[in-house]
Amino acid sequence: MSERSIFEPELLDRCISCGFCLPACPTYGLTGVEASSPRGRINLMRALQEGTLPDDDPTALEESSFCLGCRACEPVCPAGVRYGELLETWRDHSWKGRRRSPMLRLLLWSTAQTWRVRLMGLRRHARRRLGTGPSLMLGCFERALFPSVSRAAAALVPGASISSHQGCCGALHAHNGERERGRRLAVQLGYDLPGTILTTSGGCAAHLGSVLGGDRVFELSEWLGEHPPAVTPSRPRLRVAVQDSCHLRNGMGIWREARTLLAEVAEVVELPSASACCGAAGTYALLRPRDSRRILDAKLDEIRAADVDYVVTLNPGCLRQLQSGLRRRRLRTRAIHLAEVLS
Ligand code: SF4
Ligand code: SF4
Repeated sequence: MSERSIFEPELLDRCISCGFCLPACPTYGLTGVEASSPRGRINLMRALQEGTLPDDDPTALEESSFCLGCRACEPVCPAGVRYGELLETWRDHSWKGRRRSPMLRLLLWSTAQTWRVRLMGLRRHARRRLGTGPSLMLGCFERALFPSVSRAAAALVPGASISSHQGCCGALHAHNGERERGRRLAVQLGYDLPGTILTTSGGCAAHLGSVLGGDRVFELSEWLGEHPPAVTPSRPRLRVAVQDSCHLRNGMGIWREARTLLAEVAEVVELPSASACCGAAGTYALLRPRDSRRILDAKLDEIRAADVDYVVTLNPGCLRQLQSGLRRRRLRTRAIHLAEVLS
């Protein structure tokens, strides 16, 4: 077989196989198997590029799916490997045209139907308004499950414009083998919401920012860090822990802001694994529920030991994941979005 051009060679060549990323990788932590590590996966990508592995190699297909896409391997990499980009390209190449689960296909199809997402927004979003500040992105997942988060964000940013004329940002598509569609949806959202866009989802912020530019897209804690809201300290003082959003922390380097904001209203307790993925990982919890639970379980143990009132998230997927895990364990701690704690 001959060399192919699936990946940008420069992106693959950056990896010097040092292994510094291995301890940061949750899936390597679960299995201890090299192929389930960032370095092992990059070697699988290299073999696909060189043509020494066929596209339907079972290990390569399994590892492209087992990876959480959390990008915890990026900040620890001394060579600056852009693993998130490599993974998107890998899935785009290997998953396209292949039988994907009906659930995933339905999810990607329905969130790409902008009229559907807009219809959902007509009933459940924060009240429409025309402001002079950023446009609040309502998100598709958040509109369906957590409209109260949009309402809380709207209260924290009184000048924000809110329009129901907006669809999905395409992050789900970009992370699930439909990179071009994910890019197109982000561009469309950029037309629908001119000027600065504000989102309550770390995953959406990272994807949208990568397409429209970081100067146009702000995640809520990032925005509030620069435009602090008037907040009232909780009485009695609540104890809260933060669960970072992977793409917000590992992709955009944003994690201090939420802690600083929360310290104004509550006592902030640091979980040892606050920066590690909770197992939600976009569609991962739906597609690989068993692995997702294994990732979440260790975190639930930490939350129980910390005995906090709330675990605060910055992404609707993490919110849903933690809510269901805490309910399953019957812990007293509740999961809540940052916007709801501050508003
Ligand atoms: S830390 Fe970076 S360079 Fe080292 S093995 Fe991991 S991805 Fe490759
Ligand atoms: S994205 Fe996360 S799960 Fe995937 S290789 Fe990197 S650290 Fe491991």
